[in-house]
Amino acid sequence: MKARIVVLICGLMLSNNKTIGQTIQTGRKVVVLDAGHGGSDSGTVSEGGLQEKDVVLDIVRYMIAWNKSLLESKYDIYLTRRKDTLISLTDRTKLVKHLKPDVFISLHCNHLNDTNIQGAEIYTYDSNELSLLYAKIILNELNQDLGFKTRKPKQGNFQVLRETKEHCPALLLELGYLSNSSESYYLNDSQNRKALALSILMSI
Ligand SMILES: [Zn+2]
Repeated sequence: MKARIVVLICGLMLSNNKTIGQTIQTGRKVVVLDAGHGGSDSGTVSEGGLQEKDVVLDIVRYMIAWNKSLLESKYDIYLTRRKDTLISLTDRTKLVKHLKPDVFISLHCNHLNDTNIQGAEIYTYDSNELSLLYAKIILNELNQDLGFKTRKPKQGNFQVLRETKEHCPALLLELGYLSNSSESYYLNDSQNRKALALSILMSI
């Protein structure tokens, strides 16, 4: 009986160390990155077959790599998915509710029937000051560093924003249009995804 209790307590400590405990101990900014879609849900697809789920997963992986190599792990970054699997929106927001990070960023690419439309957009749920500030800074970086056309932050009633807004600043990024040939060409190049990852990371 005693042994079982010890095991239980150790288990709790372990899970604590991996999550909230780490934040308190290190004092590092905690960031939750959500690569949209995954698995059977490819998200939008370009004419050439480039899938949104792959582009955004690649970008969050590069963000992790940049954080390690360039920023000496300045941020504690958590991912809602690490590979090509479909995670429910509820499970994605559960992680945020548990961690209460400094910022939550969901990454997507856009699609429209009008193939001329291009540019990056950022959605927040409402006019939360901190969310808007993050949105403006990231949009500015994407425009200045990478030449993306950008629009003012928009408000969107997305589930991942609605369910996380109480816990932290929450943003949904639309990193260009896969329906636009020049932006899908840009996003198809891994060097450009690396640049996008760095630009977003430096904005945080
Ligand atoms: Zn999407």
